[in-house]
Amino acid sequence: MEGDSFTWDLTDLYQSPGGPAWTADLNLGMERARQFQDSYRGIDLSLLSPDAFFRALKEYESIQEEGVKPFLYASLLFSEDSQNNEYKTLLQKAKEQWNELENQLLFFRLALIALPQEKLQELQSHPPMKTYHHALDFLRRFRPFTRGEKEEEIFSRKNLTGRSAFTTLFDEFTGSFSFRLEVEGEEKEFTGSQMLSLLYSPDRPLRERAFRTYLNRHGENQLVLGTIFNSLIFDAQIEDDLRGYRGPMHRTHLENEIRPETVELMMEVTEAHYPLAREYFQVKACLLGLPKLRNYDLYAPLPSSPKKIPFEDARGLLLQSFQGFHPLFGRIAGDFFENRWIDAPPRKGKYGGAFCSGMTPSLHPYILLNYTGNPRDVLTLAHEMGHGIHFYLARGQTLMNFDPPLTLAETASVFGELVMTQALLREERDLTVRLALLCIEIEDMIATIFRQNVLTRFEQQAYQKRRDHLLSSEEIGGLWLEANAGLFGDSVEMIPEYRWGWAYISHFIHSRFYCYSYIFGELVSLALFQKYEEEGPSFLNRLVRLLEQGGSGSPHDLLKDAGVDIERADFWEKGFQVIRRLIDELKSFGPRNKGCIAS
Ligand SMILES: [Zn+2]
Repeated sequence: MEGDSFTWDLTDLYQSPGGPAWTADLNLGMERARQFQDSYRGIDLSLLSPDAFFRALKEYESIQEEGVKPFLYASLLFSEDSQNNEYKTLLQKAKEQWNELENQLLFFRLALIALPQEKLQELQSHPPMKTYHHALDFLRRFRPFTRGEKEEEIFSRKNLTGRSAFTTLFDEFTGSFSFRLEVEGEEKEFTGSQMLSLLYSPDRPLRERAFRTYLNRHGENQLVLGTIFNSLIFDAQIEDDLRGYRGPMHRTHLENEIRPETVELMMEVTEAHYPLAREYFQVKACLLGLPKLRNYDLYAPLPSSPKKIPFEDARGLLLQSFQGFHPLFGRIAGDFFENRWIDAPPRKGKYGGAFCSGMTPSLHPYILLNYTGNPRDVLTLAHEMGHGIHFYLARGQTLMNFDPPLTLAETASVFGELVMTQALLREERDLTVRLALLCIEIEDMIATIFRQNVLTRFEQQAYQKRRDHLLSSEEIGGLWLEANAGLFGDSVEMIPEYRWGWAYISHFIHSRFYCYSYIFGELVSLALFQKYEEEGPSFLNRLVRLLEQGGSGSPHDLLKDAGVDIERADFWEKGFQVIRRLIDELKSFGPRNKGCIAS
């Protein structure tokens, strides 16, 4: 890739890194936060008139929106080159100031949570407050579980040597692991994430050695890892009891605004479709020429590697497929390319993955990629563009209503990927590209839906058993294998070292029960896609409306507006119909793969 046109242009934000405008914004943010404190700290919000309250809320929101801009800019710079010392210093400064600004505003958030119900209702009935209904209701849900200021302070300070200490220990300890492995006759050193990325290697013995070595290292350190896991579960139980949460998932459900029954229904429907994943594992084994997959084969590439797709071609494909899907999608995606809101080529020092930064409603989103021309990269572009369009459309919301809830955050990105996949399957003549695309799509869905279901079931078991007694590492390993066996059945052989597979999942450490929101998000998106397939273009207006609403309502309400009822089992079934179709499509490939599709 040559020239500037595929790197991003950040001058919409600031003319130059650390220039006078940047510094001025940084100082202004702090100044406004200080003034806000002077005006409102110690004031009983329930004594404010609805108009005065509305003004305070607007100011609170505006300080954050303007205050975060220097920080977002520095983050983008740093992600494009983490080895640049100027960017590093800039980011550090912006981060410290932003934390300070947030601390200064914290009192207001707590005061909002503490508002008496009657006063809140009175304020909410004030017409200009309409757009803040949901945001205020959301905060209030935590009121029964929020303790007094003194107790909250004790929680938060004791956490530094409690929960956070264990989390940091996990990060630093596992981060210090390095692995030696012979690759192509040469012994090399690898980090943990490099070891896991070897699971995508075409070299089977290498995949096997990498995974066994990686898992064994966790097994050797079971004493530390097991203690961290036990302590975090126990800590969560103590805090839940003190705060009055009912069960280990209660708090997560409140944060996600989802009823426990809905989550359980979703998980049961997912389990009923485990055979679908097993069917795919069998097809994949055959495509790889293996009698049966082992753990380390799940993400192996197909034997014949597809041709490279230049970025120009990917851009053309994306614009054409998005335009065909909805002219609005085509137009917005065009803006991203024309105005250089995308940074595509890999460079030394650049952040290694891909993301879309939504920024704030008054700015526009940016996308970072590491585009190398593989089919996966084309799908990643479509995925991130989906996020970009979602944020772009939500810009009509104010900051507090801007970010979509976790459970709906992947809606447009999954649509983007599917729209692109379908277009490529229709037009691409190269069989290896089509096969690769289908496998990537299906494997991503299995990893996001089925695997996360296994992870959540395992976590539920561990929390339940820990109420009773301290869990030995052996016992944790047993629970882990059991949960995985439920999915794999006899379609995948688990290697003995896989009993340490739980020990490297950082979600268990950083945010318990986070994993089910992946299942939820992906299934909702697939189900909406299935609805689109059934209803045709008339569904598109509802989709656009859903995206425009950003985070202004609960997932339940936003989806209800889109004509979807998440309390019904047949809604969750819909997502699996999309996976069923992709697997059928894979199986329909010509005589070449006949042997693989006879079963
Ligand atoms: Zn995403």
